[in-house]
Parts: sequence; C-alpha cells; structure tokens
Amino acid sequence: MAGFGEGVEPPLGAVMPEGTRFIGPVGLAANWRPGDAPSDDDLATCVACGLCLPHCPTYRLTGEESASPRGRIAAMRAVADGRANVDATFARFMDLCLECRACEDVCPSHVPFGRMMERARVQIEPLRTRRARFVRWLGLSVVLRRRWVLSLGRRLTPLARPFLRKRVRTLVPGGGPGRRVARTTEPEGPAKGTVALVTGCVQDQWYRPANRATVRVLARNGWRVIAPRHQVCCGALQAHNGRLSTARKLARRNLAAFRDADWVVVAAAGCGAHVKEYGDLLGGEEATAFSARVRDLMEFLDEQGVERPGHGPAGEGPIRVAYHDACHALRAQRIKEQPRAVLRLIPGVEIAEVPDGDRCCGAAGLYNVLEPDMSDRLMEQKAASIASTEATIVASANPGCTMQIAAGLRNAGRRLEVLHPVELLDRAYAAADARADDR
Ligand code: SF4
Ligand code: SF4
Repeated sequence: MAGFGEGVEPPLGAVMPEGTRFIGPVGLAANWRPGDAPSDDDLATCVACGLCLPHCPTYRLTGEESASPRGRIAAMRAVADGRANVDATFARFMDLCLECRACEDVCPSHVPFGRMMERARVQIEPLRTRRARFVRWLGLSVVLRRRWVLSLGRRLTPLARPFLRKRVRTLVPGGGPGRRVARTTEPEGPAKGTVALVTGCVQDQWYRPANRATVRVLARNGWRVIAPRHQVCCGALQAHNGRLSTARKLARRNLAAFRDADWVVVAAAGCGAHVKEYGDLLGGEEATAFSARVRDLMEFLDEQGVERPGHGPAGEGPIRVAYHDACHALRAQRIKEQPRAVLRLIPGVEIAEVPDGDRCCGAAGLYNVLEPDMSDRLMEQKAASIASTEATIVASANPGCTMQIAAGLRNAGRRLEVLHPVELLDRAYAAADARADDR
C-alpha cells in the first residue's frame, strides 16, 4: 500500500494489487516522435487513483477529466501504448496544464508529473503553426538567452506600451530597474562563506530592487555574495515550453558560471525549482552535486539563521502581510514554513494566511499570455482571496506571481504593495539602522 501512512484508510479504489500497472494492448509501437518523450517508467507510476484531481486548478474550474492530471497522464499513456497520436487534441490537453505541480505534491505514488509534462510539451512543438513557433523561438531562444536583448526590450517597453496587447500591458511593471547588483559584495564582519546569486532574467530586469535587497541581507548576515556576469537564463521557461534542448544548453553554461561558490542562492521560486533539478535534466555527478548546493533564498536564510531586526519596517505599528505561496516553492520545492519563520522575526509583522493559498495564481510562466481565459479566472480568485485578508502588503517570492497578483489586485481596484519577502527584511534592517543613527 505504498503512499498511505500507517493506520490511514485509503480511499475506495485507490489500492491496486501488488505489481499492477496500467498498460495498453501488447505489441503496438509507441507513437512518440523522435526526441524527448515521457518515459514508460514515469508513466507506469500513476495508478489512476484520482487523489490529485481536487488539487488540480484546471480540473477544479472545468470538471473535465481531460483537464486533470489523471486525464493528461492517460493521454500520454495512450500515445506510449500506440493507441493514440500526438495530435491537436493531445496538444490541447497538455497546453491547458499550468505545470503548477500541485498533483505531484499530493500524489501518493510520487508521479514525476513535471518531468513528464516537460517532455510531452517537446512532442507537441512541431504541431504549432509556423508563426507560433517563430514567436516562441524569438522569445525563448533569442530574447531570454541574451541579457542585452532582454534589457533592450525592457528599455523600449515604455515606448511600446501603447501598442502592446492589453493583458501584456497590464502585466508588465513600469518604472526603471536601477543599478545591477555588484559582481562581488563583501560581507559585514568575518565571511561565513561565498554565495552565488542567480539574478534571473525577468527578476533582474523588472524586479532588481529585490535582487539588491537580497545582496544587502546576505552581506549583513556574513555572506560574501557574487553575481557571476557570465550566468545565463536558468532555462525554466524553455523547459516548460517544449524547448528542453535549449534548457540543457543553458544549464550547462550555468554549471560553469557558478562553479566557485559554496552555495547557489535563488530568489525567484520558478528559477529555484528548475535550477535544483539540473541534476535530473543533465544527469551525471557534476550536475547532481551542483543541485545539492542550490537553495531558495528564504530557505537559505531560515537554514543559516539571520540577525533579528531591531525595528519593524513600518515604524512602531503592526504591518499585516499576506504571504503568497508560489507553486514552484510550495509544490516543487516543498517550502512553506521557512519564509514565514523569517518574516516572523521582523518586529510588527503579522502574517495573514491567504484562503485557498495553495491554489495557483494563474501566472505559470508564459501561461498568463498563452491561456488568458483560464489564467484570468485564477487571477481573479487569487486577488479576491488576498483582498479578503485585509493585508496591506503581499509578500511574493516569484516575479511571475508578483506581476500576476499585482495586475489582479489593480483590476479589482485594490491598492496593496506587492514585495519580495526579503525586501521587508531589508527595510526592517534599514529602519533599525536609521533609528540607531538618530540616537
Ligand atoms: S497522478 Fe498520482 S494521485 Fe493522480 S491519479 Fe495518478 S497516482 Fe493518483
Ligand atoms: S501541474 Fe497543475 S494544472 Fe497541471 S495537471 Fe498537475 S495540478 Fe493540474
């Protein structure tokens, strides 16, 4: 009865006889195209129990089996068994998935759903129209791979804003990014070690203040911080959108860029989840050892300990903070308590739990542009849930979620500040320092 704890009664129909596997008609060849595809071993892990269904955002909204994890795996299995083809119907099943990995998190059989979906997406790429393939190539293989092109795109955004599609205009934050973080920042006091910061692409262009706050907080807590200039995009968006070969190339370059650090720290949940899986993506000892040195920023601060700020970020008064759990932190990295523990160290901070907080906000990388209807419904639900907490600040540690939540709150007429949790800690340190100077 793998997957159910001692004394836990499994739901009706969830237990299969030992050795049972769902297989198709024997003798038919798989209909996968050449290249990456979900493996038979991964597909065999699903016992079709359905326990994941109530946790899947697309199933909850549609009630359709084809929009559920079990339905998507059944579709993959049909292709693997030679009973179906990789066609437009198959592509639609796969495209509607958010890759939020809620199903993977709750699955008693530990189905590696994220890995299977990434490979299934490689299969559907050739089905896309020539225009769709060109746009994806331009965005994922040209713009994101070259920092200067992305930077140029960000600089041109204010001019291009009136011509952008309305939803893109709503999502993209305004304002300039300010200075990049320094190549090396020495710690305050004796060094505990060297941390290499994954600056990210979207995070570095549109949320640079979060990166600068990260460096200040790490240095204050005794870490030498390096931000290697030859690092490249982590490859998460490419992997999630059918471009695994590009993702592997980027991962190999980052392996070399971050070779010299004791720890590799990532302040963006989506990037962190992906970088932690370089071992799985590339295979081999070097990549596996690299992945073991990667930490999410809030996980790292909680693990290593941080100085408790002597003052809160909002004067003497309390500050109510709604903590947003990004799927790629909560589900893919199983990070829940660590950021809350760090935020609780800040005087005056009161954490508000968001109702249904484990449900995806609908950002999901490029999903909010590619699947606007489903994304909007999830965004509205998330904004309403956050607003119900009566918080004044939202703490979000993933740039995609931050954009989506900020847009959702704006659309709902709510004025909440959306910050990375490390910015709150940084503000508290600054407030404490200012107070000490005044004395
Ligand atoms: S993915 Fe896991 S939880 Fe969902 S149906 Fe398959 S075995 Fe059950
Ligand atoms: S990754 Fe998310 S959207 Fe996709 S099947 Fe799993 S729970 Fe559903």
